[in-house]
Amino acid sequence: MLVDLDYFYAQLEEKRNPSIKDKPVVVCVYSGRGEDSGAVATANYIAREYGVRSGIPIALAKKRLKESKDAVFLPMDREYYESVSDRIMGIFRVYADSFEQVGIDEAYLDVTQRVQGDFDEAKELACRIKNSVKEQEGLTFSVGVGPNKLIAKIAADSQKPDGLTVVRPEEVQVFLSPLPAGRIIGIGGKTAKRMEEMGINTVSDLANHDIQGLIETFGRVLGTYFHNASLGVDDSPVQERGEVESISRIATLKENTRDLDLIMEKANELCQDVYAKLVERGLTFKSVGIVVIMKDLTVHSRSKTFDTPMNQLDIVKRSAKELFEKFLNESTNEARRVGVRLSSLGKEEKIQKHITEFLGSSS
Ligand SMILES: [Mg+2]
Repeated sequence: MLVDLDYFYAQLEEKRNPSIKDKPVVVCVYSGRGEDSGAVATANYIAREYGVRSGIPIALAKKRLKESKDAVFLPMDREYYESVSDRIMGIFRVYADSFEQVGIDEAYLDVTQRVQGDFDEAKELACRIKNSVKEQEGLTFSVGVGPNKLIAKIAADSQKPDGLTVVRPEEVQVFLSPLPAGRIIGIGGKTAKRMEEMGINTVSDLANHDIQGLIETFGRVLGTYFHNASLGVDDSPVQERGEVESISRIATLKENTRDLDLIMEKANELCQDVYAKLVERGLTFKSVGIVVIMKDLTVHSRSKTFDTPMNQLDIVKRSAKELFEKFLNESTNEARRVGVRLSSLGKEEKIQKHITEFLGSSS
């Protein structure tokens, strides 16, 4: 599965301030060089109807939205987006055999084992994840289910927002053939243009093009990739990125419970495990997160973020306890499984100074 949160920054701004929901919303990266200097980061679908797209200058977006009296322009609030992303990725992760985050709003989930290769079950699982995120965070995302990452991604892109597209192995060719070649990841504007000159407009054209010709034009690696991709072939595994984004552990409780002490008994073990991995890799964390899977199998996630990088076990345990306690106060159901997660990881040496500062200021 490829899960892709819909118009993420703008959707979050709508959630934070529902009164802007029916207006064009444009989230901007201001360069700081003059009032309208900068670019659009994300726009909601209403703004998109006016031709506002990610990456266009803010001044151009304002011009396109001139006729809309109530357009809302907001500056990026990256910290807020990251903290919500962190919680949602924590939910996604629980449903995956292996997990690969590819951006603040996108991730691959390998669910092969848990659905035993059954695409109907995968579709049901996708629905469950959608409901879970909708219920807990009030947010929608689009999901593509396919036999590999390439197809999952193109499937997710084909229906937005709040989409769910399943492409079964036997449907791959029919699904891919009519699409513009540019829908394949890695075929950007320049490459698409070059392909057009070679008479390649659709994926089907690409599939029928001589592979030697592709290799001559684009080199062996890309030429082979384009050829395979056009046939829907992709063997790349779903795996954590080289840069570790988070360290997490999850375990089943001895019994379903709402008792904080019983939960912490297990959670403290998990804290020690994730902390050991953190130390082993020479990393620090800025966020501590918890995951709770309830008796009814709903998945909940909470997190806490510090201003400076941390590296103490004590802080992991205390934060986890605080989060579990707060969560139990908000819910009435019994917990079945619990997890602990460290994220916003950094290299130890780079922030050594911050920690000494932190310790210095608190002693
Ligand atoms: Mg997105």
